[in-house]
Amino acid sequence: MAGMFVSDVLVIGGGIAGLSVAARLAAKARVVVLESESAPGYHASGRSVAFAHYGLGNAPVRTLTALSMGELAKLGSIHPALHIASADQMPLLDDLEGVHRHFACDYSRVGPDGARGLMPALKPEACLAALIDHGSLKLDTHAMLQAHAASLKAGGGKVVTGTRVSAIARESDVWRITTSAGDFAAPILVNAAGAWADEIARMASVTPIGIEPRRRTVISFAAPQGEDVSRWPFTKTVGEGFYLLPEGRSQLLASSMDQTPSDPCDAAPEELDIAIAADRVEQATTLPIRRIAHSWAGLRSFAPDELPVIGHAAGAPGFVWCAGQGGAGFQTAPALSAIAASAALGLPFPEYCAAAGLSFETFAPARLGA
Ligand SMILES: Cc1cc2nc3c(=O)[nH]c(=O)nc-3n(C[C@H](O)[C@H](O)[C@H](O)COP(=O)(O)OP(=O)(O)OC[C@H]3O[C@@H](n4cnc5c(N)ncnc54)[C@H](O)[C@@H]3O)c2cc1C
Repeated sequence: MAGMFVSDVLVIGGGIAGLSVAARLAAKARVVVLESESAPGYHASGRSVAFAHYGLGNAPVRTLTALSMGELAKLGSIHPALHIASADQMPLLDDLEGVHRHFACDYSRVGPDGARGLMPALKPEACLAALIDHGSLKLDTHAMLQAHAASLKAGGGKVVTGTRVSAIARESDVWRITTSAGDFAAPILVNAAGAWADEIARMASVTPIGIEPRRRTVISFAAPQGEDVSRWPFTKTVGEGFYLLPEGRSQLLASSMDQTPSDPCDAAPEELDIAIAADRVEQATTLPIRRIAHSWAGLRSFAPDELPVIGHAAGAPGFVWCAGQGGAGFQTAPALSAIAASAALGLPFPEYCAAAGLSFETFAPARLGA
């Protein structure tokens, strides 16, 4: 194929999904990652709050989290999570305690005083009871992306940035991909395009999975003068409400956990969402938010059943989905990338994931008719 770059696998998308699976594949195949932006991690993967905990997701997502904690700990640091409940949220707290028990987490259940001992800014009425997960992790998402890019390079692969995929065709058992930087070809194509995953499927004449990008907003503001908040826990309401976590010694991040459906785009925060986040923090804590120092928004992308979508598309040999990581793309990446790499290369399902009750069927696009 003259004038065309040929490899064994092409991965579309240079976020955590694409880079983590590419790094694993590079040990066994020639891999190229195509990323439309000028640097990896520009979209969702550059906008997370970089935490790993059990306070979100359905059962398989929590299992993926549990299976990933060991690897995540290598580039993360232990930081407590405080899951707080108001009177009407007690059943949710009980459920979450069951989750922590199931995964044998190092946790304790505390009353309002115990919660305020860890998070002194909480107002008494905001927390009737809480769960402290002593083993949660503060992640270094930049380091994770860099480490995967380095493993990919060490295996002979590469990330080609500034390369937007605009057309995909299957020709003679090979995917031929037209981009803004020339043509690429490979027998295996991994679709790790995040919010754009269905757009990529349509280009390849593959049935879309109905991915729904949802915008989430984060605000950053100054901690109380003179207070070192770096050991304050990641504090999250078990149901609707907010989360709050330290960013260094003197800044705090917060979100109202908004999830507004959006088209795939370069997401930006809206004034109302910023105001709601600030209001929820002020209602539940003694923190005065005098000025929003910074805010951002990113897209968390979900399949209709909120499970990741991993595996070959029906009737499209070599088209492998790696999408729908929702709000847990970093904390599930170690296990999910192992599953996706096995799917892409036709290898058996990873044994340690099977032992936890997962299978290729759990994540297969076939469940969504794709
Ligand atoms: C505010 C916020 C907080 C979060 N907090 C956490 C957290 O604490 N812990 C956690 O685990 N997760 C968190 N998440 C979720 C996590 O960030 C995502 O699950 C994860 O980043 C998804 O990764 P991805 O690689 O699928 O998507 P992305 O990072 O969006 O990557 C997809 C890439 O595909 C590229 N692409 C798309 N179309 C094309 C094309 N045509 N050609 C070439 N390239 C293309 C895009 O440019 C993009 O870089 C958070 C998300 C948000 C928004």
